[in-house]
Amino acid sequence: MEIPVRNPRTGQMDHRVAVTDTATLMDIAARLRLAQKGWRALGVEGRVAALRRLADALARHQEDLAGALTMDTGRARIARMEVDGVRGSIAGWCATVPGQLPEAWIQGRSNPAIRHAPHWVPYELVGVISPWNFPLTLSLIDAIPALLAGCAVMIKPSEVTPRFAGPLAAAILEAGLAPVLALVCGDGATGQALVDAVDCVCFTGSVPTGRKVAVRAAQRLIPAFLELGGKDPLIILDGANLDDAVTAALRGSVLATGQACQSLERIYVAAPIHDEFVARLVAAASKVRLNFPDIGQGEIGPIIFDRQADILRQQIADARAKGAMVLTGGEVVDHGGLWLPPTIMTGVTHDMAVMREETFGPILPIMPFVTVEQAIALANDSQYGLSAAVFAADLDQAAAVGRLLVAGAVSLNDAALTALFHEAPKQSFRDSGLGPSRMGMEGYTRFFRRQALIAQTGRPAPLSAFAEEAGG
Ligand code: NAD
Repeated sequence: MEIPVRNPRTGQMDHRVAVTDTATLMDIAARLRLAQKGWRALGVEGRVAALRRLADALARHQEDLAGALTMDTGRARIARMEVDGVRGSIAGWCATVPGQLPEAWIQGRSNPAIRHAPHWVPYELVGVISPWNFPLTLSLIDAIPALLAGCAVMIKPSEVTPRFAGPLAAAILEAGLAPVLALVCGDGATGQALVDAVDCVCFTGSVPTGRKVAVRAAQRLIPAFLELGGKDPLIILDGANLDDAVTAALRGSVLATGQACQSLERIYVAAPIHDEFVARLVAAASKVRLNFPDIGQGEIGPIIFDRQADILRQQIADARAKGAMVLTGGEVVDHGGLWLPPTIMTGVTHDMAVMREETFGPILPIMPFVTVEQAIALANDSQYGLSAAVFAADLDQAAAVGRLLVAGAVSLNDAALTALFHEAPKQSFRDSGLGPSRMGMEGYTRFFRRQALIAQTGRPAPLSAFAEEAGG
């Protein structure tokens, strides 16, 4: 079976992807499990060397990979940045993980004759299911630390953006990693089959699908690490540097056409600076250019998934019908592919979908607030808790507000920093996800189960020590 693939710049179905059937997927899983034993036995230094070979192979396939990602996503510069970013991520993990896991014996506290040692046992087979917005990055973000931990990995990229899988598979083969790292292709059915085949699943995608994956994983009693959607708020307090706030708001909302989980989707501005902020943001947003017809120019790419354009249209229409004013953009532009210029709205309320549901597009709805408590309450009035941002006159003030936000990461005096800085451990709050941090050392240690070796250095206790008449 094949799935037709749409080109986001032209709107044409100009590619097809062959679906991995369930029987083949199960065969691949069995093969990966067999090879995992040798992979684990290599030790972390051996796996670091193998991952470095993969980074080198990715460099050799840079052109093919970036070209395929450009076709998948309709944007060229971010496509190249994805390849560079993955190589940087491999280098970072390889430099960090060796020697991280303590294995030494620890003297018992309650019984000094008994000591214990930790042993870190990787899951045999980790499954990765990824979305369409950063196809390469989000296919490898969990796979790299899982491989270094000694797991074999099976990845299912999104059926919306599968072109990069070919050049990625070529790089994996060239690096000698094919025995322990496999790609399977298909839609939700293939994703379900993958969950049925693995020992631990890393899912990045929407809340509704994440819920299905969690239920399936729960039935199998395997862990599901979920990285889901967001509705990130930005709070701008009186006294904040307005130029910086405008710069961060625009980039945080419009970068990657807003198709990023950590995109800003709601802006709350202190009433005294609201009008000035809006005026400056409108001026800045009006200069943003579509990367059409020339992909080599402009800041805003096409909407990758055509159904997402319907969601954007619906949210704009719903807001308009309920009294919002659209100050820039507001119409999806149809050049075959679909583009939405930055769309700034005022007069919005929490009765509108644009303030409650994930947008995943370059829409910036702005609301004034009177007190800081009100701003915090509005920001926290959401089913999501992925990340947030606060601008204030100084960092202490921003941090004080940030600590009261229900969000796994808060950018202070900037926005969407989780896209640019990957060292800070964080979890997704509320419906935005489940599981340990994907960043920081936990992003590695979550792929191990902890085995305890517990050693008797004296003599084993006889049963008689527990006889009714024994002891005092
Ligand atoms: P999606 O949930 O529609 O699909 C994600 C993946 O799940 C795809 O590969 C799809 O084929 C697969 N899938 C679909 N049904 C499945 C099932 N029943 N079982 C297993 N797999 C199944 O998401 P999307 O539209 O591709 O991506 C956009 C979403 O991803 C947004 O909500 C965005 O916020 C989220 N996202 C989150 C993060 C994060 O780190 N938190 C990062 C990027 C994107």
